[in-house]
Amino acid sequence: VAKASPSIIKQISEEQQMKKYLGLSVAVLMMAPGVAFADWTIIHAGEAMLVAGEDIQENVSIIIHDERISEIRNGFVGVGDIEAGDEAVEVIDLSDQFVLPGLIDSHVHLTGQVGTPLIESLTRSAEYSTLLGAKYAAITLRAGFTTVRDLGSQRYSVYALRDAINNGVVAGPRIISAGLGISVTGGHGDATNALPDAWWPQRGDVDFGNCDSPDECRYRVRTIAKRGADVIKIAATGGVLSQQGRGLNQHFTDAEMEAIVEAAHLLGLKVAAHAHGKGGIEAALRAGVDSIEHSTYTDEGTMALYLESGAYMVPTLMAFNGLRGAIAAGVFTPVVEAKARSVLESLGNSTRLAVASGVKIAFGTDSAVTPHGQNAGEFALLVEYGGMTAEQALVSATLNAADLLGVADNVGTLEAGKYADIIAVDGNPLDDVTVLEHVAFVMKGGESVGLD
Ligand SMILES: [Zn+2]
Repeated sequence: VAKASPSIIKQISEEQQMKKYLGLSVAVLMMAPGVAFADWTIIHAGEAMLVAGEDIQENVSIIIHDERISEIRNGFVGVGDIEAGDEAVEVIDLSDQFVLPGLIDSHVHLTGQVGTPLIESLTRSAEYSTLLGAKYAAITLRAGFTTVRDLGSQRYSVYALRDAINNGVVAGPRIISAGLGISVTGGHGDATNALPDAWWPQRGDVDFGNCDSPDECRYRVRTIAKRGADVIKIAATGGVLSQQGRGLNQHFTDAEMEAIVEAAHLLGLKVAAHAHGKGGIEAALRAGVDSIEHSTYTDEGTMALYLESGAYMVPTLMAFNGLRGAIAAGVFTPVVEAKARSVLESLGNSTRLAVASGVKIAFGTDSAVTPHGQNAGEFALLVEYGGMTAEQALVSATLNAADLLGVADNVGTLEAGKYADIIAVDGNPLDDVTVLEHVAFVMKGGESVGLD
């Protein structure tokens, strides 16, 4: 291909520019005319954390072919230095930025957001939730989160969102989806808690996530798996923001949780257990769940169980910290406010214990409790309250989260063969994690994401 002059850029249609370059300060050195997207991209990274926890590289070129990383070379490689044949090549100049793998949030709820009036959230259709999810997915991606695990949506609304993103219909992160969460009747995941009896779905309704015996729980797991789940979410204990006043300790019986875990694992699905109370966390760990979400009240004995089972802790400190403003604003019902005050007092305690004990931690925010797109705010909390180094926090949001989500073959590091899910920030996040709250560049699967 003949080397194009800079004026060739003018031949790119306005629509293509909108798609490809919106909000980016990129230097396009060469682009074959008439080609919508470059087949090859070379990113010049001034500093790069290719794998969290390893040495920072300076002045490297990340060479991308279609949606995956082809090669990483030292120095800034030019268009003529790669064997692109007659395929189009673009160069993205991030020589002033710090480049790292796309971030992974292990706990979000994309199809809603706190702040919605109770009556509206109770009467909203699943279809409407899907559209909200499209909005929040785009916001999350623009914040640098290229993969998320969605741990509970109204019915199966998030499956449609996941599939639409995978098919290029709407923009958003890769989604590992739970769909309907499983709870005991009257427990944290029972959406009918605040409803008059006449509104309750009938038992046997396939879209009803409650279960109250090992047999019923196996049926729920299999129903949800059949509908398209990538992971099973259970409320092992009571929860803060639901309209139930039965405490924050164990809700499912040991036998019910064992049935859930066995049924899920036989179908190749991991189990994420929401759990606050120590007894409930420990029962879930003994039952063999793959992660504990929130993990509020724990002690040394709990940590020993974590290490024995190999489960991840997902601290979601943002969700706790976010309760401050809501309590002050008086938006909670009395049932919820009492629980919110209680958990806020223990912010970070369990995470510090886990860090000291060597328990595996995966980054998760519970976004929806706090506004979508602010996910990176969790980094500062992990450092300030959780006792983690910036590097440990970055490991939790890349390598560890990828491992927990079962996607480590494809994402979590910048290496040949993996998806080109790449972000850049102004400044070194190892010196100041808050730089991650304002990303300068986002690429998912080799396509740059407009940030405005
Ligand atoms: Zn959650």
